Amino acid sequence: MSRAWTEALSWLCPQRAVCHACGAPLSASDGLVCPDCRRWLEADTLTAGRWETMLGDELACAASAFRYDGTAAALVKALKFQSDQTAALALAHGMAAVYAALPALRAAEVCVPVPVHRRRLRSRGYNQAAVLAGALSQHTGLPVWDGALLRLWQKRSQIGSGRAAREANIAGAFVPAVSWERRLRNRSVLLVDDVLTTGATAQACAHALLSAGARSVALLTACRA
Ligand SMILES: [Zn+2]
Repeated sequence: MSRAWTEALSWLCPQRAVCHACGAPLSASDGLVCPDCRRWLEADTLTAGRWETMLGDELACAASAFRYDGTAAALVKALKFQSDQTAALALAHGMAAVYAALPALRAAEVCVPVPVHRRRLRSRGYNQAAVLAGALSQHTGLPVWDGALLRLWQKRSQIGSGRAAREANIAGAFVPAVSWERRLRNRSVLLVDDVLTTGATAQACAHALLSAGARSVALLTACRA
């Protein structure tokens, strides 16, 4: 069949929309996720208060919207590995609820996504943290300062990297971009990422932001492992 015909048919018979988390067909009223997945997300967001953690002195607050599990994990994977940037909208919904509940997050004036290395950015085409920050800003109104932080390397070596080695590896991986340093001075920053694991990445980013003169840094992630 010719390409023109394929295009004409796909226009006449559009693909049915599917749930961004589980792939089940959606009805017109469902939105981004199916009713089952929506229930999962709503049930998990209600426990958001539990997901505030202490992560050293440099982060004023560290909070996550969901456990890295079930529907939320499926949405993160769709966002990261299946080029499904729309999945971020469903995650940002839960993040906005946590943001609204925690004054330490609401104190932020600007939002900075955890950066990926430029090679990763080229291969994936986007930074999933920046997509989440953009989706979140539709709820919070915070400006997204994508590019304020730079990631110097993604991973140095996989071989023999235990937790301690990984954390030492990440500690110096982030620097404030020279062109943003003046603007960061005295700002309260909301750092945004997809998944909080050990916290080493967030702490390294907070350190870089504070070294540029930021007044405070709080962290909000979609999920916590
Ligand atoms: Zn679903």
